[in-house]
Amino acid sequence: MHELAIAQNILEIVQQSVPREQAAAVRWVRVRVGQLSGVVPESLDFCFSAIASDTNWKGASLAIEQVPTTSQCRDCAHHFEIEDMLFFCPACKGTNIELTSGKELELVEIELEDGQGEAL
Ligand SMILES: [Zn+2]
Repeated sequence: MHELAIAQNILEIVQQSVPREQAAAVRWVRVRVGQLSGVVPESLDFCFSAIASDTNWKGASLAIEQVPTTSQCRDCAHHFEIEDMLFFCPACKGTNIELTSGKELELVEIELEDGQGEAL
């Protein structure tokens, strides 16, 4: 499963970033997931909880921010959000567009219990 491999990857980064002594203090692991990344947030959340439950990092939960798909038109420079997978510019109806967001899959921050964020 796609999400399982990603969840393992995220957990590995958390384990490398937070010393074992502080593992129990990890509360939130903030990730940004683009609409076009192909990742189902609920599934990623489920996989992460499942694999973290066997570790010292079991108190950690994913906080998933979904990033909408946005584009910029190369012809008229219009910046817009793509809905319903309609890949053309709503201003000039052109199809010469460049994707500006939507493929993100990144770990943003690891938040510990005392409120101290570990910015990455
Ligand atoms: Zn345009």
